[in-house]
Amino acid sequence: MTEQSSLPETEITFDSLNLADPITKALEGLGYEKPSPIQARTIPLLLEGRDVVGLAQTGTGKTAAFALPVLSTLAEADQRYDSPQVLVLAPTRELALQVAEAFTSYAAHIPSVSVVPVYGGSSYGPQLAGLRRGATIVVGTPGRVIDHLERGSLDLSDLKYLVLDEADEMLRMGFAEDVDRILSQAPEGKQTALFSATMPRAIQRITGDYLNDPAQVEVAGQSKPAQNIRQRYLQVAQPWKLEAMTRLLETEDTDGIITFVRTRNMVEELTSKLIARGFAAAAISGDIPQNLREKTVDDLRSGRIDILVATDVAARGLDVERISHVINYDIPHDTSSYVHRIGRTGRAGRQGDAILLMTPRERYLLRSIEKATKQSVEEMQLPSLDEVNASRRAAFAEEITKTIATNDDASELSVYRDLIANYIEEHNVAAVDIAAALAMMVQGGRPLEAEEPDLPPMNMRGRRKEQQSGERERSGRPKRPSKEGQATYWIAVGHKDRVGPGNIVGAIANEGNIDISDIGDIQIRPTFSLVELPEELSHKQEEALKNAVVGGRKLNLRLDRGAPKSFGSRGSHGGGFDPSQRGQKKKQRWSKAKKRSEFNS
Ligand code: ADP
Ligand code: MG
Repeated sequence: MTEQSSLPETEITFDSLNLADPITKALEGLGYEKPSPIQARTIPLLLEGRDVVGLAQTGTGKTAAFALPVLSTLAEADQRYDSPQVLVLAPTRELALQVAEAFTSYAAHIPSVSVVPVYGGSSYGPQLAGLRRGATIVVGTPGRVIDHLERGSLDLSDLKYLVLDEADEMLRMGFAEDVDRILSQAPEGKQTALFSATMPRAIQRITGDYLNDPAQVEVAGQSKPAQNIRQRYLQVAQPWKLEAMTRLLETEDTDGIITFVRTRNMVEELTSKLIARGFAAAAISGDIPQNLREKTVDDLRSGRIDILVATDVAARGLDVERISHVINYDIPHDTSSYVHRIGRTGRAGRQGDAILLMTPRERYLLRSIEKATKQSVEEMQLPSLDEVNASRRAAFAEEITKTIATNDDASELSVYRDLIANYIEEHNVAAVDIAAALAMMVQGGRPLEAEEPDLPPMNMRGRRKEQQSGERERSGRPKRPSKEGQATYWIAVGHKDRVGPGNIVGAIANEGNIDISDIGDIQIRPTFSLVELPEELSHKQEEALKNAVVGGRKLNLRLDRGAPKSFGSRGSHGGGFDPSQRGQKKKQRWSKAKKRSEFNS
């Protein structure tokens, strides 16, 4: 059933598709250069009058794939319509609005055509008025379309085209029955197109029941991010992510931001942490009801919030022009979700930025993404505190400039000006001192300049850099390498028991039920070893780890109190300090990647 077009896809231009002039003109205005693959293959079929099933992922340009041929035919008929000619069903209000907006922009030069979106969760008034005025194109969610059919406010008897957009999503949202009802009420002679990312049984059934000898068009998902997206990564240890994120938010030149995390819980956690740090952030995830999600997306669009924290599912198909940055707070596990995620920026031909926070052990995931996309991701460095502070000072200064520029003499500003002038006269204080005092008042006790966080830098590159600039470790004494919330534990096995880090990690992870990412440095000494683990272990975990056996010996795990100064110092441990081990110390600080590969082998 799959149709082949005569031209190779890459050579098809909008001109070669023979679209009506007003359409070509609109596309020029929008700056579309050439049709996307699904458009190149679907448009000729729909222009011919065929029913079409299109299988394609989000972001492949499906809206124009059906909107352009439909509008082209309407434009050519060159008549006014007083009843709906086109009905598009979409799963959510958000998607219905997006499709309606797209139709409106593609129809910019066809005055005879009007577009009305109808969706649940908002009042009937404006929708009814729009329908009564004679909408040519109705885009709606199935539930609300049924409501209008029942009220008699929507008449499908003249319908020429019916489009099911994101059909699989519509069924997933429980609209199967509604979709059936609408399809069975639509007139016989209409042309039908169905678009879906997947082809489950239920969709095959709908296709068989309601489409007339449909041509099936399938295009592979995007495996490559767009060229207008700059991709960077920042290597950072898990406990440093929030700090790294904050520094990025303060130093990057951002507008709207989407940040992706792996789980719904993490969505909540990161959102509240960002809000606590003063950012205008909000969450969308599968846990949050659809109408609230849509409101949140509107808030991002309108600038009421700047940061959307999301999971892959919740951000499906999201199209918000203002998104300047996608920050992958967690690395996605597969390339297609990486490509989809970062495709949320660089919309409408703008420049976009994608930044990935990657822990050292996730490097292999980045490699596989780079390999699959055949694009390399640039490394970036953690912005230093100096950079953060420079940004804060600049933002503060900018705020002053803006306040002066946007407030004229008639505004509140003049009240304050008089007050300050009086103050100077009465107190004989320099204006700069008053301004400084006011600035402090504005800050409300919060220091303008960022201070060194409590966490030690785990990013080795970051550490080297800061050491060089002398910001850190002025005492010259090496810092304990513990992460926040981690402590050093002593265990009773060492070289004499012929154990390697892999054995130790394996036993601790399994017996103590501890996540491998929570196991830090391991130092193996002749008769004992030191391991970094979470400070707070449950009683059960502690017992399990005391009794766990490695290399034939019980671990007898206990908090290490013997080495208060540094990991490598001469301690009061039974085995004492063996100078012959000195040279090996470095080698025994196993890199996490190494540890992992041993553990996996
Ligand atoms: P889908 O429905 O497949 O998820 P959309 O129809 O929403 O994709 O299109 C995604 C984005 O790509 C939109 O911002 C749209 O304006 C843009 N777009 C669509 N077709 C083209 C094209 N031929 N050239 C440039 N941009 C396009
Ligand atoms: Mg779409």
